[in-house]
Amino acid sequence: MQRTAQPLGVEPGEVLVTYYEVLLRQFGPQGWWPARTRLEVILGAILTQNTTWQNAARAVVRLREAGLLRWPRLRQATIQEIEHCVRPAGYFRQKARTIRTFVEWLDAMHQGSLDSLFAQPPETARAQLLALRGLGPETADAILLYAGRVPFFVADAYTRRVLARHGMISEKDGYAAAQRFLHQHLPADDKVFNEFHALLVEVGKRHCKRKRPECLGCPLEPFLQVRSNRKPQWRAEDPTVGNRFHTYARREDGIKAHDAE
Ligand code: SF4
Repeated sequence: MQRTAQPLGVEPGEVLVTYYEVLLRQFGPQGWWPARTRLEVILGAILTQNTTWQNAARAVVRLREAGLLRWPRLRQATIQEIEHCVRPAGYFRQKARTIRTFVEWLDAMHQGSLDSLFAQPPETARAQLLALRGLGPETADAILLYAGRVPFFVADAYTRRVLARHGMISEKDGYAAAQRFLHQHLPADDKVFNEFHALLVEVGKRHCKRKRPECLGCPLEPFLQVRSNRKPQWRAEDPTVGNRFHTYARREDGIKAHDAE
């Protein structure tokens, strides 16, 4: 029998915190973003567009070996040098151009200071990033969340797939709708967003595959219920739910908050 989650009569924040707890217990803290500095996070976020993290990581290694994970060297690098380094991540011309665009824009607009970028009101910083060629919502939010610790949930394909299969959003909902749902029902805490997103990616990779979900053995399987045509009917928001999240989100990410710029 086809099954889907129908958390009827339960408040969505309550469901989300339960998923968070279960995934954290199963997979442990994910330690995202796997980077040492904010510049490395930003370059990784650009490089992982339309490819696997493994390919992006290979490009990051080449950038490091070429010294291009340091701002002064990156500013001086030719576009050909950047292209050569980022080739393993695919779309290397496009990605090299995006990196160059970002660096030049940061210098012109924020005197090369990430602190200046991230100190702005969150929506302003996001709008500025989205105006740059090559940066879509997912990349902009990854930069804001993982480099700037600005709470924008990265509502990527893994996240949307799990939410949709558990009846929380529609399968037709896109990035913006999924992010709206999460922002509405989660505490606006960058550590919560960081860990929860990483955990959803993990369950997506291990179990919630695009074509065929492997529900058997998935930690979220107990929350699936027999498919019903009824839409989820959420209870009123419980103001204490946020406290449960905060209990689990005290970990530091290890990324230097003030790398040399
Ligand atoms: S694989 Fe896991 S997350 Fe995906 S639908 Fe099945 S139980 Fe849910």
